[in-house]
Amino acid sequence: MARSCPICGKPSVEEFKPFCSKRCADVDLNRWLSDSYVIPARDDEVGEEADLGVPGADEDDNI
Ligand SMILES: [Zn+2]
Repeated sequence: MARSCPICGKPSVEEFKPFCSKRCADVDLNRWLSDSYVIPARDDEVGEEADLGVPGADEDDNI
């Protein structure tokens, strides 16, 4: 019972159900979002935490 990707019609992949790939999932998501909001479509990855908020972890060398 394989569904097909609503975007391109290829067989869907478990990981990206019901889409065939992250790309198609993004396409659908952007389509959905742009209906409600106006968001620039330049988000490739979600996950921009844990890169800030670590003060003082920069100096290892004391010469
Ligand atoms: Zn697809």
